[in-house]
Amino acid sequence: MAQARVVIPDDFELPVGAFDIPRCYDGDLSAVVISEGMIKDRVRRLAKDIHQTIGDEPLALLCVLKGSYKFFTALVDELSNARYNCPEPMTVDFIRVRSYEDQASTGKIEIMGMSNLNELKDKNVLVVDDISDTGRTLDKLLKTLIETGVKKTWTALLLSKKVKRFVEVAEDFVAFDIPDKFIVGYGLDYNQKFRDLNHICMDDTNLKANNIQ
Ligand code: 5GP
Repeated sequence: MAQARVVIPDDFELPVGAFDIPRCYDGDLSAVVISEGMIKDRVRRLAKDIHQTIGDEPLALLCVLKGSYKFFTALVDELSNARYNCPEPMTVDFIRVRSYEDQASTGKIEIMGMSNLNELKDKNVLVVDDISDTGRTLDKLLKTLIETGVKKTWTALLLSKKVKRFVEVAEDFVAFDIPDKFIVGYGLDYNQKFRDLNHICMDDTNLKANNIQ
C-alpha cells in the first residue's frame, strides 16, 4: 500500500489551555498543532512503513541533534518492534547540525561530530531529522554522507514544511506535512527553549517581541 501523507491544514490550531503544558511556558505558546498522542500513533505507523520499504537489511540510524532527539527515540523503539523477527541489528549514531538562529535560517550549515560519520562507511543509513524547511540542511548532510562512502541513504522526517524548497531533497518517510509557520516542541526549539515540550506547538515569542499580538 502506498504511504499516505498526514497534511496539517493551514488554520489547524488546538487551544493551549486544553493541554497539559508546563507552567514555565505560560503565555509563550499560541496553539497546539500536533499532540503527543498523535505523534506516537503516527511514528508507530511510520516505523512499519520504513521496515516494509527497507526490509531486514542491516541498518544504521543517524540522529541529527538536537532537534530530532525525541523523534529519534520514539522511532528507534517502534522500529525495534517492527523489526522483531529481523536477524540483523540496528545501530545508532549521532551528529549535531546547526543552521538556525532565532527564527531565521542562517544559510550556513555547521556539522559537528564528523568522526561519527566515518563509522557509517559502506552502511545503509536512515537519516532521522526533525524538519525540512529550505532543504539546505538535509541536502548538505546527504552530500556529506555520500562523500563519506555510505552504501545507501533514506531520510525520515518528523515534519515537512509546505514551502518551496531552496534545494529539493529526498523525503522518504515523513510523519506530518505542516503549514509554513514557526513551530516548537517535541525536540524543536526557539533559542534552546521548548525542546522538552511533549506537543508540537506554535510559539508566541516572535509576536510578542514585535508587539503584534
Ligand atoms: P532547513 O535547512 O531545511 O531550512 O532547516 C532545517 C533546520 O532548521 C531544522 O533542522 C530546524 O533546526 C530548523 N527549523 C526549520 N523550521 C523550523 C521551525 O519551524 N521551528 C524550529 N524550531 N526550527 C526550525
